[in-house]
Amino acid sequence: MKQHIFLSSPHMSEEGYEQEYIKEAFDTNWIAPLGKNVTEFENEMAAKLGAGKAVALSAGTAAIHMALKAIGVSQGDVVFCQSLTFSATANPIVYEKATPVFIDSDAESWNMSPEALGAAFEKYEKSGKKPKAVIVVHLYGICAKIKEIMEICKKHQVPLIEDAAESLGTTYHGKYTGTFGDYGIISFNGNKIITSSGGGMLLVNTEDAEEKAKKVLYWATQAREPARWYQHTEIGYNYRMSNIVAGIGRGQLKVLDKRVDKKRYIYSYYQKHLGNLAGLHFMPMMEGTKSNCWLTSVQLDDGCKVKPLDIMLALVKDDVESRPIWKPMHLQPVFAECDFISLEAELHVVDEETGADNSISGQIFEHGVCMPSDSKMTDEDLERVCDVVRELWEQM
Ligand SMILES: *Cc1c(COP(=O)(O)O)cnc(C)c1O
Repeated sequence: MKQHIFLSSPHMSEEGYEQEYIKEAFDTNWIAPLGKNVTEFENEMAAKLGAGKAVALSAGTAAIHMALKAIGVSQGDVVFCQSLTFSATANPIVYEKATPVFIDSDAESWNMSPEALGAAFEKYEKSGKKPKAVIVVHLYGICAKIKEIMEICKKHQVPLIEDAAESLGTTYHGKYTGTFGDYGIISFNGNKIITSSGGGMLLVNTEDAEEKAKKVLYWATQAREPARWYQHTEIGYNYRMSNIVAGIGRGQLKVLDKRVDKKRYIYSYYQKHLGNLAGLHFMPMMEGTKSNCWLTSVQLDDGCKVKPLDIMLALVKDDVESRPIWKPMHLQPVFAECDFISLEAELHVVDEETGADNSISGQIFEHGVCMPSDSKMTDEDLERVCDVVRELWEQM
C-alpha cells in the first residue's frame, strides 16, 4: 500500500533531543510558565543566527504583532507590507488599527519588489503619509532582495520587519534572514522547517535591543508592573512561550542544519528529474543567497498545457499533498479596501474563478504549485511524485 506523502510535517530529531529537554522540565517541575528551556531557547537561537536579542512567543503572528508595537505602530498609521504572503503577515497591522498598503513582488525574487516599494514611498510621502514600518517576507525560504530593501528603508528612515517565518536557516552572503531588519520574526508552527508544536520568536536587532526586548517581554506577559499587587498601566497580551514548547524547540534547533540540507536536496531532486519538462520553472535562487527550500515551488508558463490544478489533482489521486501558492493579500476580500502598489500600469482580473490579476504576485499565484517537500520523504517518495507529474506531460 502506498503511504500518504505530506507537504511538510513535523520531523522530530532521530536522537530524541526534544524529549530530553521535556524530561528535564518534567523532572524539575518547570512545566509552566517559564523556565530554563525558554531562556536557553532564546539564547541558543540568537547565538545561532547572530541576532541581537530573541524573545520566545506563542506564535510567529504574535511576534509580528509585538514588532509593530515595539515600533510604535498605532491607529491611523500606514504600514507597507508584501502582498504575496500568508495572511498572518498582515493581520497584526489591523490588530493595531493601522492600515496596510500592499506592495507587489518582482519576478526575480518572488518577494517584495524594491522598485514597487520605492514607488510606494514616493506616492505616500507626497501626500504627507510616511509609513511607520515596512514588512518584507522571505517566501518559501527564498531570500528577498534584502540589500535593496534595507537601503530604501534607511533612506526614508523607516524601520524594517523581516517575516522570516518560512526562511529559518536561509542566508544572504552568509548572514541569516531575520537578522537584517530592525526586527525579524520566525515561526515554529507545525508545518515550518522546525517546529515546537506551535510557537514563534521575535528577533530584535536594533541598537537598543536589550530595552526593546524587555518591553516586548512585558507586553507579552500581560503587561504586569513590578508591584506587590497586580498593577497595570498598559494593555497586555498572553503571548509567552511555555517551557515545554521551548524544550521541543531547543531539540529541533539542533537539527535545523540537517533539515535545511534535506529540503535543499528535495529541491535539487525535483530540479534534476522535472527540470526538463516544457514550460515548468523552479522558484528562484538568487546569487549570494542560500535558501532553506522550505517548500519547493514551481511555475507553469501560460502556454503550458498542464495547469497547476492538474498537478494538484493528480497528486491527490496518489495520496500526495501539494498546495497552491499563497493568494496575495491585495486580492483577498478582507483587504479589498486597501491600496496596492504595483509597477503594472493597469491591473485587471485574469482569472474570474481565483480572482488572480496581472500583477507579478497575482501571476505567481495563478501559475504556481508548492510541491510536497516533507523532510521525511525518501528517494522512492520523490520518484513517485516525479512519476505522477511527468505522466501529465506525457499525456499532453
Ligand atoms: C507561518 C507564517 C506566519 C505565522 O506564524 P504562526 O507561528 O503560525 O503564527 C507568518 N508569516 C508567514 C509568511 C508564515 O508562513
